[in-house]
Amino acid sequence: MICRRVQQDGLAWFRLALLDQFPELEHRLWTRCGGVSQPPYEGLNLSFSVGDNPKRVSRNRSLIQQAMGVTELVSVGQIHSKNTLILSSQNRLHYDREIQGIDILITDIPGVGLLIKQADCQAVILYDPETRVIANVHCGWRGNVQNVLGQAVDQLREVFGCRPESLRAGISPSLGPCCAEFTHYREEFPEAFWTYQIKPMFFDLWRLSCDQLIAAGLRSEHIQVAALCTRCQAGDFFSYRRDRITGRNGTVVALHPS
Ligand SMILES: [Zn+2]
Repeated sequence: MICRRVQQDGLAWFRLALLDQFPELEHRLWTRCGGVSQPPYEGLNLSFSVGDNPKRVSRNRSLIQQAMGVTELVSVGQIHSKNTLILSSQNRLHYDREIQGIDILITDIPGVGLLIKQADCQAVILYDPETRVIANVHCGWRGNVQNVLGQAVDQLREVFGCRPESLRAGISPSLGPCCAEFTHYREEFPEAFWTYQIKPMFFDLWRLSCDQLIAAGLRSEHIQVAALCTRCQAGDFFSYRRDRITGRNGTVVALHPS
C-alpha cells in the first residue's frame, strides 16, 4: 500500500511507503483526529493564525512532538513565497517563536521536526539518503506558479551538495483533481499549466508538482503522492475550500535523534 493510516493514543496519521523504507527518517502526515481544539477548529489544529485558542494549539503541538519523539518542532509563518529557513548543524540557531515569511524548511540536525501546516495546500517532504538532509515545503498553487519545489531542490544542492537524482519526495494530503477548481485560471496560471486541466476549470495539482520535481532533477520513481483529497475527506482533514474558517493539518518530517 502506498499510503498507510495509523491510529494510536487518539491521534491518527498517514505514512508513505516510499519514505517508510528509511529507518533513520520519521515522517507523519497528521489528520485532524484527536487534539484539543474546539469547533470550528476541532481537534488537532496546528496553526496559531486561524483564530483558534493559542493554548489549545500549543497543546496540540506538544502532543505531536511527544508522539514523534522529536526534541524540537520548527514551524514558521507561511506566506506562499520561495523563502527558505535552513537549520544546519554547522550553524545551530534556536527560535522561540515562529519566523514570518518562510515556506521552505531544511535541516540536517537529528531530532528537529520540520512542521508545515496546510488545509488544501501541499506539504512536500524531501529527503536525501546520501547526505541525510531533510526539507519540508509549503506548496499551494501559488507555490507551483513560483516553482517553490525547484527552489527547494536548488537549495539542497547548493547548501548541502545533495544530488537531485538521489532525493526522495512525498506529497501530503491536499486538494485533489476532484476539487481543484480554478475559475480564473487564465489569470492565475501560466499557460504551461493549462495542460493539467482534467475537465473544464479542474486541475491536477498533484501531477503538476510531480512534474516540477522531475524538472528539478528527481527520478519519477522517487516521488510518491498520498493521493488523499483534503476537501473530500472531512473526517480526516481540515479544508479551507470546504469550510473557510477551520484549522490546519500538519505534516512533519524529522531525522531520528539516534
Ligand atoms: Zn476532492
